Amino acid sequence: MFQSYYEKHFPLEKLPPEIEKREFGFTPFEGGMLRHKSFINGENLRKFLCELVPSNAYYSCAYYENPEASMEDKGWLGADLIFDIDADHIPTPCNKIHDNWMCVNCGFKGKGQTPEKCPQCGSQKFEDKTWPCEICLETAKQETIKLIEMLTNDFGFSEKELKIYFSGHRGYHVHVESKTIRELDSIARKEIVDYIIGLGLDPKFHGLKTAGKTRVVNGPELHHPGWAGRIAKGVYELLLNASRNDLKKLGLRGNIIKTIIRQREVFIESWKDKTPWKLKGIGADSWMKIAQAGAKLQASKIDTVVTTDIHRLIRLNNSLHGKTALKKMQIPLSKIEAFEPLKEAVVFKNGTLTIQVSEAPEITIDNQVFGPFNNKKVELPMAAAMFLLCKGVAEVI
Ligand SMILES: [Zn+2]
Ligand SMILES: [Zn+2]
Repeated sequence: MFQSYYEKHFPLEKLPPEIEKREFGFTPFEGGMLRHKSFINGENLRKFLCELVPSNAYYSCAYYENPEASMEDKGWLGADLIFDIDADHIPTPCNKIHDNWMCVNCGFKGKGQTPEKCPQCGSQKFEDKTWPCEICLETAKQETIKLIEMLTNDFGFSEKELKIYFSGHRGYHVHVESKTIRELDSIARKEIVDYIIGLGLDPKFHGLKTAGKTRVVNGPELHHPGWAGRIAKGVYELLLNASRNDLKKLGLRGNIIKTIIRQREVFIESWKDKTPWKLKGIGADSWMKIAQAGAKLQASKIDTVVTTDIHRLIRLNNSLHGKTALKKMQIPLSKIEAFEPLKEAVVFKNGTLTIQVSEAPEITIDNQVFGPFNNKKVELPMAAAMFLLCKGVAEVI
């Protein structure tokens, strides 16, 4: 099925720019990794894809003089600026239902987000099974929209310089292809990452003025640009929606929490006449905690490692994802809000297939819901069957 896709449907438009300067890498279905490949044009790449039929295809965000040489001899010329937003890095309410992991060392099993260390033996090697679901993907999309807003409004990248992609599994990629950023080193890219995640952000440098510990003199407003406005928005959202327990988690004292909840209406009104930070009974220390928490809500939860790696291999546009049989695909900036990944990235739309499913949670593909399954023989539409086969939980019978 993958072969027929690459032979008949893989488009040669929308390949990475300057393809001849990129390193390509592939994971064959038999396992292992084939890398340091290069192609002088899209047609040669397509031919290779048809012959090898890899489960995953990647290319370098970097441009090289000699993409096929060993790492030291490649001659790094620059790299696109890449952002990866993956549901793996965002806690969602549903990951406890559909995701699980197992320690490779001792066999300890758990549900939800994979921990950094095994709670039983301390090992850091896990086998995990994560699933793309509509809730996880919607969460990742909202983080992507926050990122795009920062890249265009704060950094001033034009819409033409940004490319937005669905990854084919659990997230989104944003590529900045611009000469302005091409030669930035890892450290410079880390500065950009820190800005986006709001690391070390001090509201005092973004308009929050205090007099001693007790009084806020002034604060940022909703219409302010950059992080100032973002802090204001975050605080507004937080105080509008926060429960007693949410506020307690911020480390606020009981009487402050009471004041906030009692004065919620006053507070929301006060944002209209631009004196939001003067709510009676809340001191400068508490405001600082609230502002920090508000800022956190507005930060975009990107995978920081991807952006700073200037040699990173990233999934090739329009290639198939080996874990889902969905394709990585570009989404026009104006269409992101309405984009439906589990429908629009479906490739195999014809026919059905009978498979034996070992274990799978409920899945949604192409607007249809299937499962959950437990040792079941079932005839499914091709896209759903391919999805479960790629996930490694089913066999063709
Ligand atoms: Zn263990
Ligand atoms: Zn989910």
